Amino acid sequence: MAAPQSVPDGTDRGPEFGPCGHQRSVCGVRSRSLMRGRRVAGLDCDEPLRLVMSCGWVWVRTCERHGCAPCAARHRRRNARVVGTGMHKQRHAGRRLWLLTLTAPSTSAHKRWTPNQLYTRGAPRRECDCHQGVVLADWNPTASARWNHLRTALTRKGREIAFYRATEVQDGKRGGPGRGALHHHVVLAADGLLDVAEVQALALTAGYGCVIDLRPVEEATDVEDVAGYVSKTLAGYVAKSSGSARQEVPWRVPVHVDADSGEILEPPALLHSVPTYRTHTQSLDWGCTVRQIRDQNQAQARKRAASLAEMPYLGPVGWLPNGEPVWSDPPGVAGVSPPI
Ligand SMILES: [Zn+2]
Ligand SMILES: [Zn+2]
Ligand SMILES: [Zn+2]
Repeated sequence: MAAPQSVPDGTDRGPEFGPCGHQRSVCGVRSRSLMRGRRVAGLDCDEPLRLVMSCGWVWVRTCERHGCAPCAARHRRRNARVVGTGMHKQRHAGRRLWLLTLTAPSTSAHKRWTPNQLYTRGAPRRECDCHQGVVLADWNPTASARWNHLRTALTRKGREIAFYRATEVQDGKRGGPGRGALHHHVVLAADGLLDVAEVQALALTAGYGCVIDLRPVEEATDVEDVAGYVSKTLAGYVAKSSGSARQEVPWRVPVHVDADSGEILEPPALLHSVPTYRTHTQSLDWGCTVRQIRDQNQAQARKRAASLAEMPYLGPVGWLPNGEPVWSDPPGVAGVSPPI
């Protein structure tokens, strides 16, 4: 079968086609290079990525690296939108919203944490054993499994939950479990009430530390107010844990086969390696995904680019103090949004 005609017009022809319009199985990326210190009109990126396909089609796209300020900011904005959109959707679905913080176990002897709601001044606290046998480098790689354990436990008794979970890398400055411990910040939507003592007990069983925080987003509160704050905070954790903080996370995983000799290691060797935790995750029914937000933005940008290429575009003749464009008379072409 012959390769289809090249239609490098940005039309989205499905995942099996590359940007040049050729099938990915016949045409791939030949080379990629960062355009250092170059800005490309219409691309909000400090060092755009230049890609050459095997057919010769050249295209440029954003680098999407966390070291690039505009790309990192966009990543943060997308995550904030995912959090905010989901909170709205869950509230509309009639679920209650909760903010849950889960921590890695402490690394030294301590008294069992009393959640704020249950705390009475001067009440005795018993010795806690959540730190027993915990080595942070071994605990961190298990953090996501602990979350899966906990969320499954929370859905027992017929309760349904949806969530967005961000990973925070603890800097250990506030006397917490130490530098590089992973914490989870979760927006939880549940169709019933959650009890903080129950959630703490389930979190301990799942292998988290005893320090937890659970706050309801009050029904009376406009979700708008909270969503803005929460989404920014969580997106901040995501940005931090996807950036340079990754290098600070102790991470040791069992290796079962010797890479050089192919020999099976019994017991497995423990090797320090690059942390591979996910910076954020969410349930399928949360509301929307980072990918959807990105695709939506890209489709809009493509539409804008296409209409700009097709028709002479006359920009606004001026701007009102409130930021609204003033169009010449007759106004710009109907249905065409101005370029951003
Ligand atoms: Zn970039
Ligand atoms: Zn091609
Ligand atoms: Zn404890």
